[in-house]
Amino acid sequence: MKRLSSQTLVGIYKTKEGMITTQFEPNFASSMFPCVDNPEEKAVFKLSVRVKKGLSVISNMPVERIEDDGEKLTYVFMDTPRMSTYLLYLGIGNFEEVVDDSAKPKIIVATLKGRSDKAKFPLEVARKTLAFYENYFKIPYQLPKLHLIAVPEFLAGAMENWGAITFRESALLADENSSIITKTTVIAVIAHEMAHQWFGNLVTLKWWDDLWLNESFATFMAYKFGAKVYPQLGFDGLFYFIETVSAMLEDSISSTHPIEAKVSNPVEINELFDGISYGKGASVLRMIEAYIGEENFRHGVINYLNKFKFSNAKGEDLWNSLSEISRENVNEILKDWITKPGYPVIYVSAEGNKIRLKQERFSLVPLEKFTYKVPVTLEVNGKLITKLLDKEEDVIEMNEEVKSLKVNVDRSGFYRVYYEDLDYVFKANLNDKELAGLFDDYFNFFMAGMVNYNVAEALIRKLMNFKGYITSSLISQRLSLLYSVNPNKYEGIAKEFYLSQVRLWKGSDDELGKMVYSNLIEGLAFIDYDFALGMSELFQYYDRIDPNLKTASVIAYSVVTSDVNTLMEKYKGYTFDEDKQRFLNGLLSIRDGTRISQVFSQIHEFKLQDLFSIVVGYAMNPFTRKTFFDFFLSQFNMFKDYAIKVSGGLWGLGRVISEVVPYLGLENPEEINAFLEKIYQKELDRDFRSARDKLTTLLRLK
Ligand SMILES: [Zn+2]
Repeated sequence: MKRLSSQTLVGIYKTKEGMITTQFEPNFASSMFPCVDNPEEKAVFKLSVRVKKGLSVISNMPVERIEDDGEKLTYVFMDTPRMSTYLLYLGIGNFEEVVDDSAKPKIIVATLKGRSDKAKFPLEVARKTLAFYENYFKIPYQLPKLHLIAVPEFLAGAMENWGAITFRESALLADENSSIITKTTVIAVIAHEMAHQWFGNLVTLKWWDDLWLNESFATFMAYKFGAKVYPQLGFDGLFYFIETVSAMLEDSISSTHPIEAKVSNPVEINELFDGISYGKGASVLRMIEAYIGEENFRHGVINYLNKFKFSNAKGEDLWNSLSEISRENVNEILKDWITKPGYPVIYVSAEGNKIRLKQERFSLVPLEKFTYKVPVTLEVNGKLITKLLDKEEDVIEMNEEVKSLKVNVDRSGFYRVYYEDLDYVFKANLNDKELAGLFDDYFNFFMAGMVNYNVAEALIRKLMNFKGYITSSLISQRLSLLYSVNPNKYEGIAKEFYLSQVRLWKGSDDELGKMVYSNLIEGLAFIDYDFALGMSELFQYYDRIDPNLKTASVIAYSVVTSDVNTLMEKYKGYTFDEDKQRFLNGLLSIRDGTRISQVFSQIHEFKLQDLFSIVVGYAMNPFTRKTFFDFFLSQFNMFKDYAIKVSGGLWGLGRVISEVVPYLGLENPEEINAFLEKIYQKELDRDFRSARDKLTTLLRLK
């Protein structure tokens, strides 16, 4: 008999609290039972599970019967529909369930005993999501029930097992004591996983090369649902800020890949779960939807789902369906974006009545050049124009003189825009998302060495008093990066920006305003000791204060005291991940770098899912970087073992190298480069390249 591991978060494993659970995607089903572990080989599964009395069992299908042999109980489940191995689920534990059987199918949120108080909110969200998708896809959900299961230790955010979706606790459980950011995350993650019940479960990719078909769609649909059903939370802007902006960054260095990638071995397959498959794919879908129209897009999707349900499809099947419906050349455009890595910057200049467009691949380090088929949108003197730019250069002639001009309207296109003269764009009317996009493009031009820092700083100053939630969030994110790279150089501008924005957003009583405000004071507490001193007073009232102020109070307390002991006790003492996450944030914000040894001496106290945040956090924090640099290099084998064990493969180590090493490199680039050479492994070549390119870019900011 095989003993279950509690050192890993893949295959079948046991959490510290004693729950047994499975995580099979992409290739871990075969670690539990012999099978052809390949998405194309679908089968009907019949599961019987014998357990100790008092435990309950959850799987994809409802329980058909329970047999009692006197000693133990055997749970026999109904047959599943034809499905892939990676979607099978088995959970055993002491569960508490909150059920909504007001409509079909029955929806159930399952938590460990004593944790179901926070299950009502996700239950409501799930019911709304199901109704939305059944209406959007015009195909009913296929199983008799749907479980949403809170797993206390979980590697990803969530997993779409058919009829038995698993979540990290913080991505599922929320109530009136949760912050708006947590609730927004819960909505987005539930909507993402439920979209997979159609995109992925009903119609499955043939092979992992087409992973984007699953992930791009689920990502795209989640924001669409959020924007329609929870308009007050600003999902439309969040799509751009969270998905497009970060995917563009990831797509700018040599480790990127085409959306449809060729993968064969387990490391490659696991590495494919990245910002390109999720964020870039979703952004390209958004660009195509904007090009062919919402209804055409939707009908194309419905045809595709109906044609391939209970079977498997490839990327071209989707774009063929979209082309048939819209009679546009979507086929060629999509193919171009799916099969080429990277994206362009479009240089724009205007003279008289002429607008000149010229494209070139944008990248942060020198890379192979491509020309893309770009559906460009422009607003010229207030009029909307679209133009398919499918060659390097083109000219648009207007019948009037160009006075104002903006390109990439509503930032629906996956490209950057470089204006020869920024005056034209400031004469146009830019919305929050467009201003954020303008700033992000120029910030990236600065990182690429195309413009100098003054240009980026001038834009920050220009937007300092502008009240827009995407612009504010994006600038604050970039400033915290700059501060992390060199606190002395960037502290002044960062403080000025944060203080000005905090004044603008203070006292907001709408949900979006509160979300932005909490984000700003968290940033300010980290960089401004005086502000932290005042804010840290709230720490003693942690349980009673507004949930949106809690994280800032913890960060402030940490900045002022570096009190690892108290923060560690709180991390251990609170039950829910949302609280644990805040104290973890505190532990990562200390200013006394020597205290990190206290944290690492208690590393076994942390949930396995938090280990990655800890190493990234100490590398990014400029006050702990130096101590962590020495520790990481001297203890590398320990970090390596952990990463491989927890993630079930080398790819986990790859992630650590690509995310942690660049920040450590700021401390001593020569030593880090020599270290990278020493630990180089061919299988992780992509991650080594990613680490080097990121370091090159970060050093430009210093
Ligand atoms: Zn997904």
